[in-house]
Amino acid sequence: MAGVLALAGGVGGAKLVWGLAQILTPDNLTVVVNTGDDDEFHGLHVSPDLDTVMYTLAGMANPETGWGLVGETFQALAALQKLGAPTWFNLGDRDLATHIRRTELLRKGSTLSHVTEQLCQHLGVRCRVAPMTDARVRTTVTTDQGVMPFQEYFVKHRCEPQVKDLVFKGADWALPSPGFDKALREADAIVFCPSNPFVSIGPIMALQGVRQRIELFKGPRITISPIIGGEAVKGPAAKMFRELGEEPSSLAVARRMSGLCTHFVLDNVDAALVPQVVKLGMQVEATNTFMTTPEDKIRLAMFVCGLAGVSLK
Ligand code: GDP
Repeated sequence: MAGVLALAGGVGGAKLVWGLAQILTPDNLTVVVNTGDDDEFHGLHVSPDLDTVMYTLAGMANPETGWGLVGETFQALAALQKLGAPTWFNLGDRDLATHIRRTELLRKGSTLSHVTEQLCQHLGVRCRVAPMTDARVRTTVTTDQGVMPFQEYFVKHRCEPQVKDLVFKGADWALPSPGFDKALREADAIVFCPSNPFVSIGPIMALQGVRQRIELFKGPRITISPIIGGEAVKGPAAKMFRELGEEPSSLAVARRMSGLCTHFVLDNVDAALVPQVVKLGMQVEATNTFMTTPEDKIRLAMFVCGLAGVSLK
């Protein structure tokens, strides 16, 4: 194995991952996905970021929400509500099949890596998609309204509480999954997709030994900033920067990545920040990083692969 190891959260990460999958052969792409957001609903194991990446690569994702399946219905959820179950976490009817199958295979003793491989295979995803770890890591958010699991903060409270701290429970003892471990040993380049630095990239970096292994990684390590013009494209990244005491900007992202990355890609609208990011010791490139169309995703993926020096399909 060689090629690109892409590290991703959900929606932002999945956009670039889709672009990479269009231009790299399947054995030249391994996607490692955050599982700190995983949780249990109605007795089922839900892996929101893994599913976003998997559905996006399978061409089944809902383009409007960025999560869930296209053309989804919610009859099972309505029925659960009628039965008195809490239904603040949206689960579509077809999406439920994924969680039922995942939970059943996990209960029979499969690892999350193995289950993910199986699900991807059945949905026609050809590159490798692996959870960051097979161990249980859970992101917990300390807020002005108390300590809560990530999905409660993100979905139930719509990211409204003020964030004071983030804890990745279990990460200190969690080893990278076998697919992640292999890619760390064999990949030619590491790409940090434009994902939330705190709650998508943060848990991956918190796993046992991962930060150090990435610091020692010999090939190019490239971050694409998820902050454009001082704001997040979607989600709470900018709000989290402010609440944790820093002005959101690509410079703030770059500070978090210095030492981990050799290259930093920011948006053209932030080109004025280039000299300051260069001072952090990275090669900095400005380009259009806002992805809406398939062409945007492929173009940015080509740009990143150019920096990584990996051969295309
Ligand atoms: P989540 O787990 O579903 O929130 O997804 P991620 O963590 O992967 O992505 C969220 C981050 O992606 C946010 O900080 C967004 O600002 C960023 N993002 C989303 N779309 C884009 C895009 O088109 N370009 C860039 N540069 N960042 C994006």
